[in-house]
Amino acid sequence: MDRVLVTGGAGFLGSHLCERLVASGASVICVDDFSTGRRENLAGLEGHPRFRVLQHDVTRPLDEELRVDQIYNLACPASPVRYQADPVQTTLTSVLGALHVLQLADRCGARVLQASTSEVYGDPDQHPQSEAYLGRVNPTGPRACYDEGKRCAESLFFDMHRTRGVVVKVARIFNTYGPRMSPDDGRVVSSFVRQALDGQPMTVFGDGNQTRSFCFVDDLVDGLVRLMASSEEVTGPVNLGRPGEVTMMALAEQIAGLTGSAGGVVHRPLPADDPVRREPDIRRARALLDWEPRTSLEEGLRRTIAWQRTAR
Ligand code: NAD
Ligand code: UDP
Repeated sequence: MDRVLVTGGAGFLGSHLCERLVASGASVICVDDFSTGRRENLAGLEGHPRFRVLQHDVTRPLDEELRVDQIYNLACPASPVRYQADPVQTTLTSVLGALHVLQLADRCGARVLQASTSEVYGDPDQHPQSEAYLGRVNPTGPRACYDEGKRCAESLFFDMHRTRGVVVKVARIFNTYGPRMSPDDGRVVSSFVRQALDGQPMTVFGDGNQTRSFCFVDDLVDGLVRLMASSEEVTGPVNLGRPGEVTMMALAEQIAGLTGSAGGVVHRPLPADDPVRREPDIRRARALLDWEPRTSLEEGLRRTIAWQRTAR
């Protein structure tokens, strides 16, 4: 039986991942400081004999007594509003959190997977973004705490791989949405759905012509599990996301249609350094992991809307 540690396991992605791992027979420890994660996300696992929660801030070293076979490092606020609220803590979470999981992996001989991000590409001038693209990140802007923190974490992963032989896996996750994404954390899908269900106008930042490519959470979790199971020499980075760019205006229209909202949209200023276009090139994930997202945007939005209706 695999002993698996998931940092950030009480968050949106982490809670789905913990459920998937427990269902597959693993024994799972969730490490979370509950800064953006919630106990309710873990309600389905409460009391399970192969699941436990350690409340802990990953900027502090992990318990030296822990013995695990696999580590998924997801601890980090992911919404721009949340990660900019305490930017120094965000950088420390990425950098020190990475160091601490790597040290634990080194002690235990465990494999360790980093939840990196498409934000390492910054506001890209290559489209779509492949793993070979080195990015265009503003190191002094308000998103830097997240982007540069994640870039530094990647560099720690590859340094510990080269110098200590730690088995590492780096996933670059593109925008992912679905049930349990906090409706008030400011990310676009959960915000538009909440506003539409409330009959309020959806807040489109800028002219709404910027694009993102949205992946449904179940598909993304499947990609993470496949990457962890891949052979040792597969270190990544590997893009995980669903190709298919949409503008924020088109997303708002689709959500209005699916919710029946007549609230319309209202435009708000575009935040600094907001990337103009983003779409993953997933040829590497297809080839190495035989992975492909299965859920259409419409189907994923329907499931997200259904969940947000009940979560209100
Ligand atoms: P989330 O905010 O729902 O989850 C993050 C979790 O980490 C929360 O449970 C939070 O309490 C915990 N956490 C934060 N700081 C911590 C600390 N110092 N110590 C311990 N726990 C801490 O966000 P999410 O969308 O589930 O994202 C999970 C991971 O995936 C993050 O690392 C994020 O950068 C990455 N990611 C997500 C997306 C996406 O679209 N959802 C895209 C790219 C990367
Ligand atoms: N966005 C928007 N309205 C909102 C929240 C976000 O128009 O209420 C836009 C935002 O400017 C960005 C896109 O939606 O262009 C995705 O934003 P999100 O914060 O979800 O993710 P990220 O910018 O990190 O990709």
